[in-house]
Parts: sequence; C-alpha cells; structure tokens
Amino acid sequence: MSNVSSDNSGIHVSRINRLLAAFEDRGIDTLLVTSPSNRRYLSGFTGSSANLLIAGERRLLITDGRYPTQAAAEAADYELVIHSGPLLDQVAASALDIGAARMGFDPGLTTVADFEALSKLLEPECELVGVSGLVEELRLLKDEAEMEALRRAIAIGDAAMEVAEKSVRPGVREIEVAIAIEREFRLAGASGPSFPVIVASGRNAAMPHHSPTGKEIEAGDSVVIDMGAKLDGYCSDMTRTFCVGGPTPMFEKIYGIVLEAQQAAIDGVRDGMSAKDCDGLARDVISEAGYGDKFGHGTGHGVGLDIHESPRVSFASNDVLQAGMVHSVEPGIYLPQWGGVRIEDLVLVTEDGSETLSQYPK
Ligand code: ZN
Ligand code: ZN
Repeated sequence: MSNVSSDNSGIHVSRINRLLAAFEDRGIDTLLVTSPSNRRYLSGFTGSSANLLIAGERRLLITDGRYPTQAAAEAADYELVIHSGPLLDQVAASALDIGAARMGFDPGLTTVADFEALSKLLEPECELVGVSGLVEELRLLKDEAEMEALRRAIAIGDAAMEVAEKSVRPGVREIEVAIAIEREFRLAGASGPSFPVIVASGRNAAMPHHSPTGKEIEAGDSVVIDMGAKLDGYCSDMTRTFCVGGPTPMFEKIYGIVLEAQQAAIDGVRDGMSAKDCDGLARDVISEAGYGDKFGHGTGHGVGLDIHESPRVSFASNDVLQAGMVHSVEPGIYLPQWGGVRIEDLVLVTEDGSETLSQYPK
C-alpha cells in the first residue's frame, strides 16, 4: 500500500492545491481534516488514527506512536507530528504553531464535545469555522489514479460474480456463497469486501439488504447477490439476480422489467442532468409495469473511497450528474410473498453519456 502512495505523491499535492483554491470563498486559512476517507484522499495515509492540518504551504499529519514509519512512507508530502497526549491538544497546539486564525472543520463529522473542547483550546487566537463537504466536493469527480483503482476493484467484482454464479445451486446455503465471494476478493488482492456481501434467496430476496443466512437455496428461488471489493481504498459495487434451475415465468417477467428500467437509466445518463431525472428514467419503467410501490429505494449512489457517497441518484436528490462522477444504477422490484430482483452496475459519467464499468453479463 505504501509504495502506491509515494508513487502518487504528485496527485496528493494537486488535490491539496484544488482544496486551497476554495479557502478564500469559505473564509478560512486552515482546514482540519478528520475523516479516514478524506485524509486518505489528501495524504495517502491509511492508518486508523490521524488528523490533517492544511494551510497554504504547511501540511501537517498528526498521528500517534504506532504510525511514524507508515506515515512517513505513505504521506511523504506532509510534516509529521507524533502526539503522546490527547489528539485534540496536539491539533490545537499545531494549529496555533502554524498561525491558523480561521480554521475550517466539518460540523457533520465533529462531535459537539470535540467542537467545544477545541474552541476553548484555540481561544482567542483562532476561530473554528464550519465548512461542510469541502473535501467531498473534490472527491465527486474522479481523477486518473482513482479511476485506475476503481477499475481494478470492479474487475475483481466481475471475477467474484462468476465464482458466485457457479456456486448458486439447490442445497447450497446463502452464507456459503457469501464466503466464496469474500475468498475470491482476498485471493485477487482486495483488502476485503467494500460492504457486507448480500446473498438473498427466495423470499429473503424481497429484502433489499438481507444478510446471508444458513438458508439453503432451492430450485426456483430468485437469488440476489450484491457485493463489492475494496482495493487501495476504493470500492466496487455490483448486483446480479439469478434464478436457480432456469428462469420461472414470474422471474422472467420481473427480471425483464428491472433490466429495462436499468437500461433506460444507463442510456439516459448525461453530463449536466439532474440525478432526480436519472432516477425517474428507471422508476417510470417500473411504475408503468405496475410495480412502482415495490421499488422502495433510490436508483443509485456515488462510489469511491466510500461505498455510499455523492451523487445521490434518487427522487429526493438535488445533485447534478457531471462528467467524471462514478455512480451505481440499481433499480429493483421486491415482492414479499415471492422474492426480488435487483440489477446493479457502476457507470462513469462522460462528456457524451456514460461508460458502464462492470462487465459481468446480465
Ligand atoms: Zn450494491
Ligand atoms: Zn449500490
């Protein structure tokens, strides 16, 4: 992991420069970065505990005694500060040391207790300024290094789905299929799944986020498999639905509607389109077929360092799709007395439409 980060050091500097360009507008001279995904994006550091302080020419990575070697290797663009006392005390001392006067922090990622303690430690030289989603805004549009990691994570997902499809047969338990998928992820070089693998058969498939159980798969079951691999911090996410022992007439009907809905949304993706309209393309197909109330979730979500990030592709979204975003398209129909079908692929929004990134047949 560490050699990837140091090879990519130019990438972190260019991301930091884009971040700094937003400081004046937001009225800050320094930014405190606390979330694991944001600090990895800006520094390459993969350890479990660290804060970043970013201010003009100064970039500090504050971590504890477990990480000096790893942090030096992964975050070569940062000055390292190793704290032995409370992290917040060190954050305040370092912020004052680099002359911070207006330090941005994310109110959505900070506890009230931390905010109050840090405010007190910084008084009166430095004021805390709430700035939401500053780093997340940069992460919306994937750069070349991110696309490379995403494509590799997605390829591992494609290979694991083949293993999963082969293992789905009568008498096999849901949990066995999930384990086969996770094993494939690890053998292919992924650090693990990007979220708990979903294997839902028969009536369990009517629950969009069912956890795999000891239930044996039966002939005629629809089996929803939703899974993703995590590689170099980046997440893949794909769903396929199979019918054991060949498709039943009911499966064929429901599957056909969901596939048509998914294709309509994928075909309709455009740079500049509202995410709500993209959701509508899939939703309209399902509603017209009479199953509108059986599709109870959004059509998709952004994917990157986090499995769920912006843009949100749903009926309630205010996001706008832009070239460079990666998001899922995953409509589904769920019938409690029967089961369910969901089909999901990741797409990259391009200047003239989209590129479907996952390749597994559907
Ligand atoms: Zn998924
Ligand atoms: Zn998804």
